[in-house]
Amino acid sequence: MNVLPFQPQAGNQTNAAIALPPAAFLDGMLEAAWLVDGGSHCVLAVNAAATTLLGMPADGLVGQRVDTLAHTPEDAMFWVEAASNPAALIDSETVMRHADGRMLWVRRRISFVPGTGRARAAAEGFWLVVMRDQTQQRQSEDERESLVAELQATLESTADGILVTDLAGRMRAFNHRFAAMWGIPADLLRERDDAAVQLWMRRSVLDNADYTTRLSAIQDAPLMQSSDMLSLADGRVLERVSLPQLSRGRPIGRVFSFRDLSEKLAASQRIEELAHSDILTGLPNRRALAERIEYMKAVARRENSLFALLNVDLDRFAQINETLGHAYGDRVLKEVAERLKDCLREVDSVARLGADQFALLIHHADARGAENAARRIQDVMSRPFNFDTLSFTVTCSTGIALFPGDGSNADELLASSERAMHWVKESGRGTFHFHRPRKEVDLLSRMRLDHAMRQALQEGQFRLHYQPQIAVDSGQVIGAEALIRWRDPLRGEISPGEFIPVAEESGFVVAIGEWVLHQAVEQAAAWLRKGWRMPVAVNVSALQFQQARFIDTVAFALRSSGLPPNLLELELTEGILLGDAEEALHRLQALSALGVCMSIDDFGTGYSSLAYLKRFPIQRLKIDRSFIKGLPGDASDAGIVNAIIQMGQALRLHVIAEGVETEAQRDFLARAGCDEFQGFLYAPALDPLAFEERVWRGGGKPPASRSARHFLGGLLT
Ligand code: C2E
Ligand code: CA
Ligand code: CA
Repeated sequence: MNVLPFQPQAGNQTNAAIALPPAAFLDGMLEAAWLVDGGSHCVLAVNAAATTLLGMPADGLVGQRVDTLAHTPEDAMFWVEAASNPAALIDSETVMRHADGRMLWVRRRISFVPGTGRARAAAEGFWLVVMRDQTQQRQSEDERESLVAELQATLESTADGILVTDLAGRMRAFNHRFAAMWGIPADLLRERDDAAVQLWMRRSVLDNADYTTRLSAIQDAPLMQSSDMLSLADGRVLERVSLPQLSRGRPIGRVFSFRDLSEKLAASQRIEELAHSDILTGLPNRRALAERIEYMKAVARRENSLFALLNVDLDRFAQINETLGHAYGDRVLKEVAERLKDCLREVDSVARLGADQFALLIHHADARGAENAARRIQDVMSRPFNFDTLSFTVTCSTGIALFPGDGSNADELLASSERAMHWVKESGRGTFHFHRPRKEVDLLSRMRLDHAMRQALQEGQFRLHYQPQIAVDSGQVIGAEALIRWRDPLRGEISPGEFIPVAEESGFVVAIGEWVLHQAVEQAAAWLRKGWRMPVAVNVSALQFQQARFIDTVAFALRSSGLPPNLLELELTEGILLGDAEEALHRLQALSALGVCMSIDDFGTGYSSLAYLKRFPIQRLKIDRSFIKGLPGDASDAGIVNAIIQMGQALRLHVIAEGVETEAQRDFLARAGCDEFQGFLYAPALDPLAFEERVWRGGGKPPASRSARHFLGGLLT
């Protein structure tokens, strides 16, 4: 620092010569300093910092009267007072003008330095003026202030509630929206009572524990950005976004912004609802159902449980629309929707898939549960619809698909249930049916086969063959099983084992079955007319049996052919029990009342309950071919066959074995007490003429033993 030596100016009365502080006195000071003569108030000396501060050379200052350099009234007043008061002191902020005209903010301190004389008169000493430039500091303070003001304005201008905290979670800033959104009392905020504010927020949310956990997770990770939803106890939903607040790349706190999503959610919920529901009935639509199925899938997988999808389609709904008008149609659909809802448990759901098609999703339902639901549907639908003066009934066809067997996703389950529903439609409507899983690849060939079958029936390509049934002890032919045969002109002979299942699936088996029934009954009647009493057994498909008109069909066939009912046997499978067992019992009783005989075919392959068997008016059990095959060597087949025979005896039922090909098999059956058998051992199914030849007229090769008796076996006399 360069200190100018004091040069008393001519004409100026000063005492400076008497006691001048050393130049080093000013030079040693970092701050700008003037030394002012106590008497004349002239500047005696300045240091280099002082020349820099005001941008004036030393000689522009030295010798000047200090009051001319004062720019504020405060300073002017001081120098007036200072003349008589050496104790005067000033230390404050003031402004000074730089040589270039700028105003400088300066902290300026003026104090008295006594002279060497005894007297402490002002005139005998010096004034030391020390100045520190505050301009920059002042500027940055100003800047900061305006920045804060801007920030606050920014904070307030957003619709979000904003809270800024330090790393410890203490509030540093917030906006009014934040306070309003959380309803935080003003005094808590005014006092910046962090603990109280935090407690308030915690108590405002629905799940305090969860809120606390999540908040501390956020706070434990100062660099984490997060976004989550908070459900408030008053029902509102806030979105909370939090960002780390960084200073020089290091986290110093966190900015939370809160947005009230309640209205938006309500609106989007409504939109969702509209997109997911059916306008007419208010039920969920197909899309909503598909989502629900996906959800149920996850639940079922987790709980290792099942669920069922029921596809309910109104029968002949188009007629209602056409005859009564669409307004009525709509009323029916609404009423159906209500009825379907009524037969559901809370957890289940019903949806409208399309025009008159509905779907029900049944939780925790296996086949039995699904069946119960299907029955409830039939129940509620059987009540008549009463509109104005009109009263009518509407039936429906229901297809059932089970998860996961019939489909692993919504599309597959919907398709399976729909296929099963169509199957019901095809086979006469008004009931329900389970989907039967099958290979997709077969679909086309099955469709072709189905088509060919329909043509075959029209064109009379079906024939019946008859397989003799023989009494084990007497060796007499005691009956014949009618088995269908089909020779397709292109494909040749097609086995019923191949086409009957397809016909069962499409429902066409009902039509085929009726043809078989009439044909077989006519044949037996024809034989009887020729004087040959030969009972015929006809295979009846479960679906055929379940037709409402089945009993009438049988009665009609008997009546029109004149065949005594006891010469007709119906071979039923355990599948008839799959539906309503009570209803099955009902029908069996009606058939029994007609006087026809009944047997359970393929016995042992299904799941007949002994309880039902006891109540059924049947005469025969037919042991399935699959158990005969292994006889006599296969111990498990032998065991099963023995058990069936004993059971038959206990229930006073005849037992017949099918598929008997060897003597050894027949001998085993004879020892086990089996009453009758049929199989290649005696004869395969034969066309009527061959059958007559072989059995009646004895034209065929007689069986290996007891030939004489067989020869006479089927004779009436
Ligand atoms: P099913 O009722 O169990 O008929 C017995 C099947 O075993 C017949 O086959 C018969 O030809 C065959 N069979 C008889 N004896 C023997 C033997 O000793 N060894 C062997 N390996 N097989 C023997 P088919 O005629 O091919 O009929 C197959 C299935 O088709 C029948 O099984 C039945 O379920 C169904 N079916 C046949 N005709 C009709 C019908 O008119 N209506 C209905 N609904 N189903 C029929
Ligand atoms: Ca059979
Ligand atoms: Ca069988």
